[in-house]
Amino acid sequence: MAARPMAMRNGESIPSSTRRWADAGANDIMTFLYKADLERGAEWGRLFAQKAPELPFHLWPYEGDPASVRYLAAWTPPEDIARRFPNLEILFSVGAGIDQFDMSGLPPELAVVRMTEPGIAAGMVQYVTHAVLGLHRDSRHYARQQQQQIWQARRVRPASACRIGVLGLGMLGRAVLQQLHGLGFPCAGWSRSPHQIDGVECHSGCDGLDHFLARSDVLICLLPLTDDTRGILCRALFAQLPRGATLINVGRGGHLVEDDLLAALQDGQLSAAVLDVCNTEPLPAGHPFWRRPDIVITPHVASMTQPDGAVDAVLENLRRHRAGMPLLGLIDRRRGY
Ligand code: NDP
Repeated sequence: MAARPMAMRNGESIPSSTRRWADAGANDIMTFLYKADLERGAEWGRLFAQKAPELPFHLWPYEGDPASVRYLAAWTPPEDIARRFPNLEILFSVGAGIDQFDMSGLPPELAVVRMTEPGIAAGMVQYVTHAVLGLHRDSRHYARQQQQQIWQARRVRPASACRIGVLGLGMLGRAVLQQLHGLGFPCAGWSRSPHQIDGVECHSGCDGLDHFLARSDVLICLLPLTDDTRGILCRALFAQLPRGATLINVGRGGHLVEDDLLAALQDGQLSAAVLDVCNTEPLPAGHPFWRRPDIVITPHVASMTQPDGAVDAVLENLRRHRAGMPLLGLIDRRRGY
């Protein structure tokens, strides 16, 4: 009988006492492969070495035995993923979304998991709160006044007069609503299935959308990008908002019909927009969004996965996987999120 390959990490064999990950039977080595930003990957590597020294962790490209790769964390996986890694068990997205994955190229039995580490929600809460307060407290207006040395006050509206509506009541939408509710803004949210959140008016499904939009002075998009949500931020939707409403898009660029936003701003149906995501990223030079004083652009920075929390989230899911427990952030392929 052929000897099984020895589990190795950084060229050294792994002592059997710590080989918790190396009991796979057909192939002893259970490699974790990382294929995304290499600087952050190096941090993942250091954290894996501290928190799970027995698990072989490698950065892309991987020169070892592809059959040993059981787990892949990626922003964009290789196109030939199924052929290249025949024993892959879990594909982790390094981000909260998975719309960058071509699901049609993934084996049906492969578990696909999005990133749910708490730093993502913390960053998103900061960004959206800053954006809402900037709109509510006229930050852009006063910045322009300062350039012209104008000292002229606008009336300060109470938070209670500015109704917030969040599209998406998932990990991020709920966190954002909790914070904004605490600041005194009347809050509502919209999702596919019904939810109940203290202090938040919850709407769901197509039937619930009209009423939700009609009462949203600031509309915040925190939906995943799916076949159902692509292009949802369009002329017809804007027309249902109160006149002069504002938009904050922190979901994905594909949610927004860009020409419809320009038209809505032009005719006053919308008064301003904050866009962290765009259809084409980076936003091309000369794009009309750059020049508009009523649009704030940031380069997809609303929130970023923090390596420490990410490695904890991944290791918790590996523990669950090995214990046969449900994975956190597992994607439902039929729903697309
Ligand atoms: P979740 O999967 O936790 O939540 C998604 C929410 O959207 C759920 O409430 C879901 O409804 C709702 N939803 C999905 N499809 C529909 C639909 N067709 N109609 C109505 N509601 C729908 O996602 P997260 O909160 O973790 O993240 C949301 C998105 O934020 C990510 O997919 C990503 O695109 C974006 N993001 C952007 C970042 C940035 O830096 N700009 C950073 C991180 C994420 P239900 O509850 O009923 O299932």
